[in-house]
Amino acid sequence: MALLGQMMSMPLLISSLIQHAARHAGDTEIVSKRCEGDLHRSTWAEVELRARQLAQALARLGLSAGERVGTLAWNGHRHLEIYYGTSGSGLVCHTINPRLFPEQIAWIANDAQDQALCLDLSFLPLVEKIAPQLKTVRHFILMTDRAHMPAETSLPGLLCYEDLVAAEDGHYTWPLMDEDTASTLCYTSGTTGHPKGAVYSHRSSVLHAFGAAMPDAMACTRRDVILPVVPMFHVNAWGLPYSTALVGAKVVFPGPHLDGKSLYELFEQEQVTFSAGVPTVWLGLLNYVGSQGLKFSSFKRTVIGGSACPPAMLATLMDVYGVEVIHAWGMTELSPLGTLSRLSSKHLSLPPEQQRRLLEKQGKAIYGIDMTVIDDARRELPWDGRSAGNLVVRGPWVIASYFGHEDSPLIPVTGRDGRDAGLWFPTGDVATIDEDGFMQITDRSKDVIKSGGEWISSIDLENIAMAHPAVHEAAVIAVAHPKWDERPLLVVVTKPGATVSRDDILKFYEGKIAKWQVPDDVAFVSEIPHTATGKMLKLKLREQFRSHVLPTV
Ligand code: ADP
Repeated sequence: MALLGQMMSMPLLISSLIQHAARHAGDTEIVSKRCEGDLHRSTWAEVELRARQLAQALARLGLSAGERVGTLAWNGHRHLEIYYGTSGSGLVCHTINPRLFPEQIAWIANDAQDQALCLDLSFLPLVEKIAPQLKTVRHFILMTDRAHMPAETSLPGLLCYEDLVAAEDGHYTWPLMDEDTASTLCYTSGTTGHPKGAVYSHRSSVLHAFGAAMPDAMACTRRDVILPVVPMFHVNAWGLPYSTALVGAKVVFPGPHLDGKSLYELFEQEQVTFSAGVPTVWLGLLNYVGSQGLKFSSFKRTVIGGSACPPAMLATLMDVYGVEVIHAWGMTELSPLGTLSRLSSKHLSLPPEQQRRLLEKQGKAIYGIDMTVIDDARRELPWDGRSAGNLVVRGPWVIASYFGHEDSPLIPVTGRDGRDAGLWFPTGDVATIDEDGFMQITDRSKDVIKSGGEWISSIDLENIAMAHPAVHEAAVIAVAHPKWDERPLLVVVTKPGATVSRDDILKFYEGKIAKWQVPDDVAFVSEIPHTATGKMLKLKLREQFRSHVLPTV
C-alpha cells in the first residue's frame, strides 16, 4: 500500500489568498477609479474585512453554498470584495460580460440560475430592462453607497451594497471546504449556439494564480503596482485578482475609464509597473501617449493577449517606451493562461531580430499546462515550427466539461510514438510548436470573429442574414482591422431576381444583436465555395477577402 504523506492537510481555497494578503500585505493599497467619479483608496486588510462582511450579508439574505451570485461590474475594489466574499464563503462568483446583447445577458443569468445580481451604477438601466426576463434572481444589489442610490427604480427591492456591508460586524471565519468546490463561473460565447459556462474550482483557481505569478509567466511581485485593464468580467481578469493577493502587490483598478488619457494619467499617478490587456486597449493608450509626446515613468512590463499582439505594437512598446511585452495566449476554458512568450537563457545570444521573432509568438507553456498539435486523425505532429495542426491542451486548470452539459469536450490523442496519449481539450486554434516549445497561432478552426478582445459568433450573424427575404446564402468571415484586430464581413448570395442594398441588409441587424457585433460591410458574390459535404469553405473566403478594405465608420 502507498505511504501517505504526513503534511498538514490544507485545501487550496480562494479564501487562503485573501487571508494571506490581509495578514502579510495588509497595508498594501488597492486603488479604484469608480463609477461615482472618485478615486477610492483601501488596503488588502480592508478588502478582506469587507469581503467577510459581505459574506455575512449574503448569508443573511438567505444565499447558501453553491448558489451563484452574478456580477455586472467594472474593475474595482467592490468587485474584488465580491470575488472573495462569494467564493470564500462557498458561493459561486458568476462574472457576466456587460458588453453582450441584453437578451444574451438574461439568457446567461437564467442558465446559471443566479440567485443574486450585483451591478455597478453604469449597468442600472441595462438590468432594469432585462429584469422581467430574469427567472431566478431574488436580490439585486447596487454596488454603491446610499447617496448614489436612485430615487426611483423598477428593480424590486433594490439593495445598497454599502448598507449591506456596513450592517455586518465581520466576525466571520472563512469556512473550510473541499478544494474541488466550484468557486467561479464564466461564460464563453466563442462557438456556435448559446454561450457555455466554465466552472472553475478553488483548487484550479489557486494553482492558476501560482502559475500566473511565476517569473517566466507574469512575474508578479510584492514590489509591483499592477493595473489590470483586462476586465474582471472576462476570465477573472486573467487571474490577476488572485495572483496580486498571492504576492501582496498594490493593485490599481481603472473602473469604466479605459480610454488612453485616463489610463495614462492613472499609470503615472499611481506609478504602475505592470499591466495586462488586449491589443485594442494598448492601441488607445499608445495613440494618446504618442500624440502628446509623453513617456512612462514607472511602467516596466505588460502582458498582451486575447488576440495576436501585432509585431508593430510590440516593437513600439519595447523600443520606444522601454516596456517589456509578454505576449500571451489563453482561453476562458483554461482559466485562461496557456502560454507566455519569454526567452530562455540560450536565446539571449541570438541576434535581436531572432529574439524578436520568438517574442512575437504566443509563447511557451507554463507548468500546469501541457500542449501539443495534432493532425485531423488526432495524431501528434512534430514540434518543428512548421507543422501546423489543431492545438490541444490539458492540465489542472483546463475544463473537463461545461456547466450544465453532460458531454465531454475532451478528445483522445495518439502520441508520436503511436501510444495512447490520453484525453485533451481541443482549443479550436491552429498552431505550430517549434523545437524549443514556442507555440505560434497560425489560424483558427472555430468559426468566430474576435473584435477588440470580444467574441462575435459568425453563425449568429449568418442566421440573421439568412432570415432576410432577399438572401439566398450568407457567410460571415473575419477581416483584419487596424483597431479591433478583426471585424466581421458579411458575404451574401442574393435570391434569383431579388435586389437588396448593403444598407438594407445591415439595417436588418438592428435590435437583433449588439451594435458592435453588426458586420462592418457586405460583399455580394454569385457563389459561396463549399466542401464536398456542403460546408462553407471559410478558409477560401478568408483568402478571397484578405485585402478587403472595410469602410471607416
Ligand atoms: P481570452 O480572451 O482571455 O484569451 P477567450 O476564451 O475569450 O479568452 O478567447 C480565447 C481565444 O482567443 C483563443 O482560443 C484564441 O483563438 C484567441 N487568442 C487568445 N490569445 C491570443 C493570442 N495571443 N494570439 C492569437 N489569438 C489569441
